[in-house]
Amino acid sequence: MSAYILTSGSTILCSHGAPVMHVPTTPTEYRIEGLPVMLMTDQYLIAGCPAAAQGMGCFSVIWTNPSAMLLVRGIPALTNLSVGICQGSNAPAMIVAHQLTETEPNNFKHVN
Ligand SMILES: [Zn+2]
Repeated sequence: MSAYILTSGSTILCSHGAPVMHVPTTPTEYRIEGLPVMLMTDQYLIAGCPAAAQGMGCFSVIWTNPSAMLLVRGIPALTNLSVGICQGSNAPAMIVAHQLTETEPNNFKHVN
């Protein structure tokens, strides 16, 4: 089964339930359902993680396992199979919801 491309409309939470905010850092016109695609090098910020009270609050997410088939301005896109690790707790990020129309292309695609 093909992976779904993540966009800024995705719902991503840290393992303690705080929302992850996608901050695009690479300018591009490319959109899926009118929204920017989540790219590996964008910023993913977390505010208000409840684990901060224990000194282990999540503040951002670093992603691995991006798409090998879709690059946007040379940067791999993220999919629902990508793995996010929250900085501050080292706990995994949870991909709760994402768009369900656009899957990873079967052939390598590089868009600007
Ligand atoms: Zn957290």
